[in-house]
Amino acid sequence: MGKANKVLVIGGTGYLGKRLVQASLNSGHDTYVMHRPEIGVDIEKIQLLLSFKMQGAHLVSASFDDYQSLVDAVSLADVVICAISGVHIRSHQILLQLKLVQGCMQRFVPSEFGTDPARMEEAMEPGRITFDDKMVVRRAIEEAGIPFTYVAANCFAGYFLGGLCQPGFILPSRERVTLLGEGNQKGIYVDEDDIAAYTLKAIDDPRTLNKTIYVKPPKNVLSQREVVQIWEKYIGKELQKTVLSEQEFLAVMKEQNYAEQVGLTHYYHVCYEGCLASFEVDDDQEATKLYPEVRYTTVEEYLKRYV
Ligand code: NDP
Repeated sequence: MGKANKVLVIGGTGYLGKRLVQASLNSGHDTYVMHRPEIGVDIEKIQLLLSFKMQGAHLVSASFDDYQSLVDAVSLADVVICAISGVHIRSHQILLQLKLVQGCMQRFVPSEFGTDPARMEEAMEPGRITFDDKMVVRRAIEEAGIPFTYVAANCFAGYFLGGLCQPGFILPSRERVTLLGEGNQKGIYVDEDDIAAYTLKAIDDPRTLNKTIYVKPPKNVLSQREVVQIWEKYIGKELQKTVLSEQEFLAVMKEQNYAEQVGLTHYYHVCYEGCLASFEVDDDQEATKLYPEVRYTTVEEYLKRYV
């Protein structure tokens, strides 16, 4: 497969979606962005869509409540990248993607961009719904015979590094930090713009056809303690540290509402079990090896922005 002429991004005004649109434009793809009438008078979304239009993107009106409009939108593109919401504390609409599973695409990249759901069969309730729903979408894609690429992007840097790997925090404290367990399990942190850049590389690559690719930047495989040390170096002091045992974490989790519990389950698997870095990834499935020309942002560089 040569370079995809036309890329449709769905969820293009979202947290990751807007980066995918920008990466598509930056990489010279003919870029289509779905515009949902349901966004109504959400001025920020409209302004963002217009800014994409001014850079050459085509806005395509379509709604998940109007199947024909989705069929028409999808048929405009060679490749469909979906970044629909999948975080319960914001919104979780992963199964809506079943309406996108149609046979006329050269490639579909569904909304995943996190932990590989195929490796999370033993995940805990209630957070396993994220993985289960993403697997339902995978099965539908594969049963329909639609060519695909799945992107396992590990931890979004904004959520995990911003909060020094503590759930509920997205800005790093200059005073204290709670270490999950002893803070020694390795996580993998990726700048969201880099996730988008790698995704746009992958869609044109025959090596990633019908495969899962992992974004595992070698310098960004770090424990919470190592992340905290980088931050401490920047601020020139040691943070006061408290350790939260697994039992304490699970007890706190049980007291939260459903959406919070889903998110905490994900932190549990990453920070107490080390689910992201516990397996090896072959070079032909790892984004930084496949695309060495993309210069990824290191954790050290990313954290500097908070100083
Ligand atoms: P957002 O919450 O920013 O939402 C993305 C888009 O979903 C919205 O912009 C909107 O599209 C669309 N959407 C939301 N609700 C509806 C609805 N009811 N009907 C139709 N469309 C809707 O998503 P994120 O960027 O946070 O998440 C994208 C993906 O990344 C998900 O798969 C998620 O699980 C994953 N993720 C991974 C993380 C990690 O650390 N690895 C962290 C966070 C997310 P529109 O532009 O049309 O309005």
